Amino acid sequence: MYKLRYLIILFSFIGFLACSNDTSELGCPEGAESSHTYLGNPSNASGDEDNYLIQLPSFALSYNESRGIPNWVSWNLTSQWMGESFRQDDFRAYDLPSGWFSPDEDSYRNSGFNRGHNCPSADRTCSDNTNSETFYMINMVPQSPDHNQETWANLEQYGRDLVRRGNEIYYIMGNYGVGGFGFFGYKKYIADGKIAVPESIYKIMVVLPQGENDLNRIDENTRVIAVNIQNTNFATDDNWWHYRTTVDEIEEKTGYDFLSQLPTSVQDILESKVDNVNIEF
Ligand code: MN
Ligand code: MN
Repeated sequence: MYKLRYLIILFSFIGFLACSNDTSELGCPEGAESSHTYLGNPSNASGDEDNYLIQLPSFALSYNESRGIPNWVSWNLTSQWMGESFRQDDFRAYDLPSGWFSPDEDSYRNSGFNRGHNCPSADRTCSDNTNSETFYMINMVPQSPDHNQETWANLEQYGRDLVRRGNEIYYIMGNYGVGGFGFFGYKKYIADGKIAVPESIYKIMVVLPQGENDLNRIDENTRVIAVNIQNTNFATDDNWWHYRTTVDEIEEKTGYDFLSQLPTSVQDILESKVDNVNIEF
């Protein structure tokens, strides 16, 4: 009897350790890697150094070694991704193949541009590790301070509000061109020419009620918000909805095919519409 009681206490303790360990990740969706390119791989990224596919638990992206920034970053946002974790602020280099330029936490210093997140920190608060992934420098672009802190921040907030109201969103954020206006004026490159300053930054959002089997639920009536804004620190209107455009326009500018997992007939309709929902705050 003495031995049995000892074992019960021992196993309870092991059980407690296992459970308390689990709770650190409680709420983060699992097996999410594939879902971040669920609607497609816009540039057919794979192993090429200027179109290099990286799939993290929190998001997927195509890294461009000659530009030192991602071509695009893609992620799914549901309420399960949003929790209680705080902003980790641990900006750091990602481990890329040897010999490749990999931006680090100091690469943007004194450039006049922000380290602008693609997948936002506040979209990934279900665990500290998940939030920390958004601080890999491969998730950043040199973004004009006002563009980042005002217009773009408002758009990100709007997306999280939609999710809090029962929706989920498929996001693709990307950039193209060279040359933007930062705090110290116009620049084409920073970090001794290793990092391109994008000319324009865009975001595509596919919004649908939170649920399962999303490819079967997206149809010609699904809401798609496409926004494309020049990377400038002045004359940028805080109201992101004034910059709404079509996915087709962004496909034309980038040469990519967005939403390629949807039937062509559905893409044709969704990609030619400009979102016209009245935005209220
Ligand atoms: Mn199209
Ligand atoms: Mn398309």
